[in-house]
Amino acid sequence: MDTEGLKTSVIGEIDARRQQLSELSLKIHSNPELGFQEVKAAAWLTQYLEENGFSVERGICQLPTAFKGSYGEGKPAITILAEYDALPSLGHACGHNIIATCAVGAGVASKLAIDQFGGSIMVIGTPAEELYGGKATMIDRGVFDDLDIVMMVHPGAYDTATIQVLACQHLEVEFFGQAVHAAGRPEAGINALEAMLQSFIAINSLRQHIKDKARIHGIITDGGEAPNVVPAHSAGSFIVRAEEDTYLDELKERVLNCFIGAAKTSGARLEYRWGDVRYAPMRNNLALARLFIQNMQSLGHQIQLFEPKHTFGSTDMGNVSQVVPSIHPFVAIAPVEVANHSPQFALAAASEAGTHGLLDAAKALAMTVVDLVANPEIVSKVKEEFSKQDD
Ligand SMILES: [Zn+2]
Ligand SMILES: [Zn+2]
Repeated sequence: MDTEGLKTSVIGEIDARRQQLSELSLKIHSNPELGFQEVKAAAWLTQYLEENGFSVERGICQLPTAFKGSYGEGKPAITILAEYDALPSLGHACGHNIIATCAVGAGVASKLAIDQFGGSIMVIGTPAEELYGGKATMIDRGVFDDLDIVMMVHPGAYDTATIQVLACQHLEVEFFGQAVHAAGRPEAGINALEAMLQSFIAINSLRQHIKDKARIHGIITDGGEAPNVVPAHSAGSFIVRAEEDTYLDELKERVLNCFIGAAKTSGARLEYRWGDVRYAPMRNNLALARLFIQNMQSLGHQIQLFEPKHTFGSTDMGNVSQVVPSIHPFVAIAPVEVANHSPQFALAAASEAGTHGLLDAAKALAMTVVDLVANPEIVSKVKEEFSKQDD
């Protein structure tokens, strides 16, 4: 069968599974699980892969809810990633139910391409994208070694083939002061809450003078126990983000100085800890993105290589894109005014438009797999672009 014929078969394969895939997506949506606790989602997704001819390894990288489904052997080794964690209180307000179902749907449809041209297709389940950067741990534990290409599609309010993602790192901060009666002997107290408030003021002042797109934001997680006791302890959780890794390093130091300064002026002792995982910026593979665009356009999507109105925070897919040629396109499932991480987006992730986006994204991914396995020279081009970016 020629490439076009194979793409038609791949589309037919996904259309034939419309009901199954939509049910799977809605089942995950109505059972939201937080990062590293995605037990049900991982069980349903691996079951689906196994029932459809994939050999499945569960609990890979010593992460109980991570998995790898494989079909075929050897090169090219193409991987589609699934995310399936939800957000506290908001449920699937980032639509990871769609990412996961799209990944298994695309994986299963890609079998047709592997049967004809060889190579291997993998669906790797990557837990805890939202809070803990599960993919960074999985990179360290070697699961992305020896892969040629990694793809995934995220739902959003725009169709776009490439995204700009900020590098970021979490910062946990605590101040330790001296508790005393706030009215009786305030002169003997050291106010840990005031140290935290001063840090916020210093950060707000700093924010005027940082680069466009850099972000600093945080919350207070402990601000004292009672109004008549000078707080002996305060705690806060912050995230620092920047477009480039080098600027993130610079900004981290300046942010930390805000806390150090507040410790000095208040007399409170500072303890801090940078998060173990640092999210990297996204390195979009343009050769791969262009293939995906052609396939989405053939399905009637007005997708751009880059959508300037699309904004996004950070993702551990950025880290993957630093080690394997990758794309992380978005498929529109909601009107442009609906942002990810909102209750409205959670509704969109269970809507008819959500299922439509899921199926089209799965088709375009599987069609891209057809392009890749049928044309080794395209795989070489993708890899060449990636190694040139290394220079
Ligand atoms: Zn999210
Ligand atoms: Zn997300």
